[in-house]
Amino acid sequence: MNRKKLAIVIIALLISIIGVNKIFSFVEHQREIKLEEKRIQEEKRIEEEKKRKEEEEKKKYMVGVNHEAKKYSYDAKIISDKFNKYDYSNNGERIVFLTFDDGTSTTVTPQVLRVLKEEDVKATFFLTGENIERGQEKAKELIKEEFKNGHAIANHSYSHDYKILYPGRTLNLESFNSDFKKTDDMLKDILGKYFSTRVIRCPGGHMSWKGMDKLDTYLEKNNMASMDWNALSADAEGKRKNAQELAEYAIKTSQGKEIVVLLMHDTYGKEETAKSLPQIIKYFKDNGYAFKTLV
Ligand SMILES: [Zn+2]
Repeated sequence: MNRKKLAIVIIALLISIIGVNKIFSFVEHQREIKLEEKRIQEEKRIEEEKKRKEEEEKKKYMVGVNHEAKKYSYDAKIISDKFNKYDYSNNGERIVFLTFDDGTSTTVTPQVLRVLKEEDVKATFFLTGENIERGQEKAKELIKEEFKNGHAIANHSYSHDYKILYPGRTLNLESFNSDFKKTDDMLKDILGKYFSTRVIRCPGGHMSWKGMDKLDTYLEKNNMASMDWNALSADAEGKRKNAQELAEYAIKTSQGKEIVVLLMHDTYGKEETAKSLPQIIKYFKDNGYAFKTLV
């Protein structure tokens, strides 16, 4: 009898122990699920935070122009592709891109900037590194002013030296790229690490040299654009012209084109260019052109 009782007690005890264990393991399991959920949530939060920071970082980057000046900018690649086909049409809408090469100069650039401000129009500056160096701190300040005023900044090489860029009149892509990179680095140094430009202008014009298909492949791969012109004031060719003659030349070569990329220079000795600007700008305003920048 005693043995029987003992057996019953032992069995009851075993059942209760197994039951309690089950309850314990159930509770433990629930706790693990909750922890896992928390871990997943935390991972998600970190991932979202990372994405948000990346987006914020991306927004800081400025290509060619400052953030506020994007509204005046136009995709240079589209214009460049059209120009390759000599297509200057734009569905009846007229756009002009005033472009200034070979700056910055401490003499002419300030005058050009003053006129652009007075006329409230935007332009694109194709800068050369050597002239930036020549102008030292003053040149750097002028580039900052160009950028701040909503103009586009583009690269026109460092040396502007045909013998370096196109020895034997044929492109040397390696020296071409290292020459342009020098100016790129200078511009980043002046305008900050978030600045870059995807627009270049080949000294002498893309149209003037052999072996340029290599450059085209490189530009295509790097989402860049080489921008020539389809009108000019001829302030760097032929006989020296006064402001009136420059304006007439610019107008003559722009006529009948819905898209105009006008070549001018704001380098040393081009005072007449600055003087010709009001008349040139007036022509485009009178003829319903919108002033845009190339980025
Ligand atoms: Zn040039």
